[in-house]
Amino acid sequence: MTSAAHRALLLAHPDTPGEWVWSIAADVQLEAGVLVCHYALHGEVNRLRVPAVRAGRRADELWQHTCFEVFAAAERGAGYYEFNFSPSLDWAAYHFDEYREGMTPASLARAAQRGFVEIHEHSVRCRFNDCRHMEEPGCAVRSAVMNNQIAPRRYESYRRLFRLYEKLAS
Ligand SMILES: [Zn+2]
Repeated sequence: MTSAAHRALLLAHPDTPGEWVWSIAADVQLEAGVLVCHYALHGEVNRLRVPAVRAGRRADELWQHTCFEVFAAAERGAGYYEFNFSPSLDWAAYHFDEYREGMTPASLARAAQRGFVEIHEHSVRCRFNDCRHMEEPGCAVRSAVMNNQIAPRRYESYRRLFRLYEKLAS
């Protein structure tokens, strides 16, 4: 599914005005099951301490420095996700059971599944509880794809996303 981009212009709260950051424009778009976010910071950028770009790895407490965030919840999912993106390319992903409660590092492989409601629904009939729906025997999701109960295009999107998340998590 591709949807129109949504843009939000973020301004500092009057109680905590930013001296050098005037605004942040955030564009989000859902492209084939992948949430694509672009951020543009407006201000006196040369006065900000921006971390140098490096290889990028999973890291905690990015919010204490310089990072962009997105909070995402599936329409019928439980809880929500928080993603942090640093200009250094470091990143973080958390799952919350409820608003600011039950924070755990997000399992990105599970996140891929949660983004596809039909895959999540069929997965309860997989032979193995931890089925990733890739090559496992007795996978109800792959059976559903064969029987046209799940659109092959959606399953391919899931596989692409799963592989991407696996790469990010390694
Ligand atoms: Zn499966």
